[in-house]
Amino acid sequence: MLIFQVRNLLLDPSLHIPVEATWEIDRVHTGEEEVHFLEPWHIQGEIVNVGGDALEFSAQVTTSVQMACARCTKPVQVPLCVTIQQRFAKDQASSTDPLDQDFDVLPIENDRIDLEETILHEVQLGIPMKVLCKEDCKGLCPICGQDLNEGQCDCETDSGDPRWEALKGLFSE
Ligand SMILES: [Zn+2]
Ligand SMILES: [Zn+2]
Repeated sequence: MLIFQVRNLLLDPSLHIPVEATWEIDRVHTGEEEVHFLEPWHIQGEIVNVGGDALEFSAQVTTSVQMACARCTKPVQVPLCVTIQQRFAKDQASSTDPLDQDFDVLPIENDRIDLEETILHEVQLGIPMKVLCKEDCKGLCPICGQDLNEGQCDCETDSGDPRWEALKGLFSE
C-alpha cells in the first residue's frame, strides 16, 4: 500500500511525489508492550529527488496513542506528531554527499520504494517511554492501591520511601 513507483522521479528531478495516506493501524508492539492507537495514522509528505540517483522521503505522521499513566495507571490519550526523513538510493555506494552518513540509506528496488518499514519504525521511536495523566499525579498508594488523586487512604505510609523518611525527620525535630 505504501509502495511508490519512482521511475519518473529518478528521470526528472524537477518532479516530486506527494505522499498523503491514512493508515489504519490498531496496535503495534514495542518490545514487551502493546501500544493501542486511537486514531488512524495521517501521513503527509513528499518524495523528492536529491541528486545522484538518491531520493528523500520526508513526512509528518500524526495520530494519537493510548498509554497508561506511569503513576496511577489511568489511560491517557497522547497525541503524536512524528517527523520522518529517510533517504533511498539506487546505488548506495555512489553517493558522495557527506550528509548521507546521517541517514541509513535504503535501497530503491525495481524503481520502487517501500515506505512502510520507515514509517512504522519512526512512529515506534516517537512513542514516549512514559506519560503522566497530569504533571502532579499523586499515583497509587503502594499498600492498598487507592488512587491518591481521589483522596488519601488510611494506610501508614511506612513504605521505606526515602522521601517519606526525610519528611518524618523534619516533623520530629
Ligand atoms: Zn496518573
Ligand atoms: Zn493505602
